[in-house]
Amino acid sequence: MKLLMVGAGLSGAVIGRMLAKAGHTVTVVDTRDHVAGNCHTERDAETGVNLHVYGPHIFHTDDEEVWNYVNDFMTFLPFKNRVKTTSQGQVFSLPINLHTINQYYGKTMRPEEARAFIEQIADRSIEDPQTFEEQALRFVGPDLYEAFFKGYTIKQWGCSPTELPASILKRLPVRFNYDDNYFFHKFQGMPENGYTEMVAKILDHENITVHLNTSFSREQAADFDHVFYSGPLDGYFGYDLGRLGYRTLDFEKFTAEGDYQGTAVMNYGDVDVPYTRITEHKHFSPWESHENTVCYKEFSRACEPEDIPYYPIRMVDEKKMLADYVALAEKTESVTFVGRLGTYRYLDMDVTIREALDTGRAFLEHAAAGTSM
Ligand code: FAD
Ligand code: UDP
Repeated sequence: MKLLMVGAGLSGAVIGRMLAKAGHTVTVVDTRDHVAGNCHTERDAETGVNLHVYGPHIFHTDDEEVWNYVNDFMTFLPFKNRVKTTSQGQVFSLPINLHTINQYYGKTMRPEEARAFIEQIADRSIEDPQTFEEQALRFVGPDLYEAFFKGYTIKQWGCSPTELPASILKRLPVRFNYDDNYFFHKFQGMPENGYTEMVAKILDHENITVHLNTSFSREQAADFDHVFYSGPLDGYFGYDLGRLGYRTLDFEKFTAEGDYQGTAVMNYGDVDVPYTRITEHKHFSPWESHENTVCYKEFSRACEPEDIPYYPIRMVDEKKMLADYVALAEKTESVTFVGRLGTYRYLDMDVTIREALDTGRAFLEHAAAGTSM
C-alpha cells in the first residue's frame, strides 16, 4: 500500500518504519527542515554543544520493549535528571525530597519525622483534590506550595493553579528520602549522538522517502491508501470549530565561558522572575567536554496561530471542542490521528513510541484481515 506519514517526529518515524519493514511504500512529510519533531537536537556551530532545540528531552521509561527499540538505533548513555530550583533566595533540590524539606525548614529530620511533620502542615481536609492548588495543599501544605509550585505554575500555564487540573501536579512525586532523581523509571538515559540522529536512523529504510520543508494539504491524502497524521488535530480540520489552547515557549539563547550554573536544569520558583527555568545543554551530555557553554532561558506564553504549539492546556471549557474534533477525526476515513498534536495530549517520548508501535501493529492486522482502520 502507499502510505503517508504527516510529521517526521517519533510518531511518524516509528509507525513509518514498521510499515516500511512490512513491505509498504512510505512517504514522510514534515514542514520543518529537519526530522525528529520536538525532540530535535543539533550541534551548536560555535561551541560544539549538542542542543535540545525545542527544550530539554530526557528519556525515561518502564517499558522494556520501547527501551530496547530506541537502543537498537542509538547507544543510550546514563543520565539522571537532577533538577534544582531557585526560590526565595536559595537553591533547593527537586522533586521535593528530604533534603528540600530539611533545608526549607532548617531541620535535620529523618524520613518518618519528616513524613509526620508534613502530615501536620498539609491540608488533609481536602479529600479529593480537583485542582492543582488543592493537590499541592493536600500533599505538601502552603509553604512548600508557595515556594516551589505557585509562582512557577502561574508562569508556566498563564493562569491560577486553582484553574488547573490536579493531574498536572500528580506527575511530580514527594519523597521522604534523599533520592533527587526527577523520574522513577527503571530505564533512563540520553542518546549518545542526540535524538535527531536516532530518528534519522529509524527513517533510514529503502521503502521510506522523506520530504522536508513540505507541508501536508488534505488534497494530498487522495494519493495515498492511508494517512497517519501527527500534526495538530484542529489544524487538520482548518480550525473550523475553533482553536484548541496551547502554551508556546520562547527560548533566549546565550553563550558563556566554562560552566554557567553547574547543572542541566535550574527552575525559578519566584513569580517575579519572568522565566520558568534555565537549561544548560552541555550538562545533558556529561560524557562530552566543552570549553564554553550554551544556555536557554525559557519563557512560557499563550500560543498564537503563528507559534509552535508545545503544551496542550486542556482547560475544562475546551472539553466540548476537543470532543467534537475527536468525533470528526473518528469519522475521517483512511486517516489515523497520532501523537502529541494529533491527539492533543501531553505525551512523553516513551508513551509516544509505545502508541506508535501499537498503531503500526493494529494497521498491519487490519491489512492482513482486509478490514480498514
Ligand atoms: P512532534 O515531535 O511534535 O512531531 C510532529 C511533527 O509534525 C513536527 O515535526 C511538525 O513539524 C510536523 N507537522 C505538523 N503539522 C504538519 C503538517 N501540516 N505538515 C507537515 N508536517 C507537519 N518527553 C520525554 O519523554 N521526556 C522529556 O524530557 C520531554 N521534554 C519535553 C519538553 C518540552 C518543552 C515538550 C513540549 C515536550 C517534551 N517531551 C518530553 C515530549 C516529546 O516532545 C513528545 O513525546 C514527542 O515530541 C512526540 O512526538 P510526535 O511525533 O508525536 O510529535
Ligand atoms: N512545577 C512547578 N515547579 C517546578 C516544576 C514543576 O510548579 O519547579 C509544576 C508545573 O505546573 C509543571 C508541573 O509541575 O507544569 C509538572 O512538572 P513537570 O516537570 O512534569 O513539567 P513539564 O514536563 O510539564 O514541563
